[in-house]
Amino acid sequence: MTARDVGLPDRHPAAGLPERVTIWEVGARDGLQNEPAVVPVEVKAEFLDRLAGAGLGVVEATSFAHPQWVPQLADATELLEQLTPREGVRYPVLVPNERGLDRALAAGVTDIAIFASATDSFARRNLNRDLHAQFAMFSPVVRRAAAQGLRVRGYVSMCFGDPWEGAVAVDQVVGVGRRLLDLGCDQLSLGDTIGVATPGHVVALLDGFLRAGVGTDVLAVHFHDTYGQALSNTLAALRAGVSCVDASAGGLGGCPYAESATGNLATEDLVWMLDGLGIEHGVDLDALVRTSLWMADQLGRPSPSRVVTAVGGSSRTTNPPEQRS
Ligand code: MG
Repeated sequence: MTARDVGLPDRHPAAGLPERVTIWEVGARDGLQNEPAVVPVEVKAEFLDRLAGAGLGVVEATSFAHPQWVPQLADATELLEQLTPREGVRYPVLVPNERGLDRALAAGVTDIAIFASATDSFARRNLNRDLHAQFAMFSPVVRRAAAQGLRVRGYVSMCFGDPWEGAVAVDQVVGVGRRLLDLGCDQLSLGDTIGVATPGHVVALLDGFLRAGVGTDVLAVHFHDTYGQALSNTLAALRAGVSCVDASAGGLGGCPYAESATGNLATEDLVWMLDGLGIEHGVDLDALVRTSLWMADQLGRPSPSRVVTAVGGSSRTTNPPEQRS
């Protein structure tokens, strides 16, 4: 018997779930943006290429935020120049304002994302304007991008709770999301920025969007595992009809607004669950785990992903999985 590089779960499909899920990989942007270390541009370029090589079809590459605010991603233009395009792979970039859009267009991007807030407190802290003024800032960005044929994703942050305001009403989140769609966004990513969502809350928010005429076909979910709920919340969203899920390779990126080391849902943990459910996703888990182990070496610390931890060790040993205790 040949030892497998990586274990895989047995498949037990369950009813009421999508046949295929699009994984929106955010490790290179959301992950590295929130890491204390600044990674060299060559390493980022290899990271992006390894992620695409592992089968991820949407790999968010970087951010055109002002380097003063996000020094970790100050090399966005240089990174895109070093990127080797792959057939069928999209590399969205975050664009905070019109200046960022100018830089993104000059770099030849085809997909952008804007980063909005569901709450007034976070809009003031992160965007330096109030809840309503954010739309005036985003409006020309979305309009110009759409006019150029770009796809535009709208992140909605703090959808399930805000560290300054506490609970966030479903209707408020739906109102912000509706306005972003009205501006011209073609997809919303509903973010649990501080990781406080639980499955019933997820269902309530998705129901709220449905009542407002927004179907799950234009919704993605972005969960953080701060309180260990990310996969439960993901399963609830899949059952409600969502088929695009954000995740970060190796669980890269804590959350600067939550006092915790755990942030983004790890892509490997998501892939493991999808594999067990027999849901197609196109990702080679072995290649992805090797990529995250490589990146952990670059960052000098282990990946917080449960799956990387569980199977990563076995890829470095000659023992087949069944001989491990
Ligand atoms: Mg995140």
